[in-house]
Amino acid sequence: MKIAISSCLAGNAVRYDGKHKRSLWLEKLQQEGAELVAICPEVEIGMPVPRPTIELIQSELGSVRVKAVGDSSQDFTAKMAKLFEDKLALINTCGGFICAEKSPSCGYKTTVIYDHKKRKLTDNGSGLFIAKVAERFPSMPIINHRDLNSDKDVVDFLRAVKEANKAISLAR
Ligand code: SF4
Repeated sequence: MKIAISSCLAGNAVRYDGKHKRSLWLEKLQQEGAELVAICPEVEIGMPVPRPTIELIQSELGSVRVKAVGDSSQDFTAKMAKLFEDKLALINTCGGFICAEKSPSCGYKTTVIYDHKKRKLTDNGSGLFIAKVAERFPSMPIINHRDLNSDKDVVDFLRAVKEANKAISLAR
């Protein structure tokens, strides 16, 4: 069973600070049959490692855009959207997604969104890439890495993935 995972959680040194955020649960996931598919939206749109940080800004018209911190002329929204379309077929082969919380690209309902005057609107936004995954694949189990805290959490997540995929197959 294929599971997409934020690349930094898979142990790849792709974060803005040049580090990784290797998950303690990689071995357990693999033991339980997960074939991990690592994706780093920021590197895959061509950003370097290390790199300046980015953030989510909601425009006056309501759309959420991903921009460089301190330089809103650097807008990565279109590139991120194109990457998502390019990755659609691959994500479609994955049963679930394990993502890095709080990231403006990968966080799931844990990411800060600001308004155009840099006032915080919410702590519970989703990173731009994951927001697109959740929108396009509403039945896909998505979990923030911080919610995997034990072997049982891993087993429970993979069970949820299997059940979701069974339900999707039956509906076809
Ligand atoms: S959180 Fe996502 S975008 Fe950021 S380094 Fe990890 S995989 Fe890349």
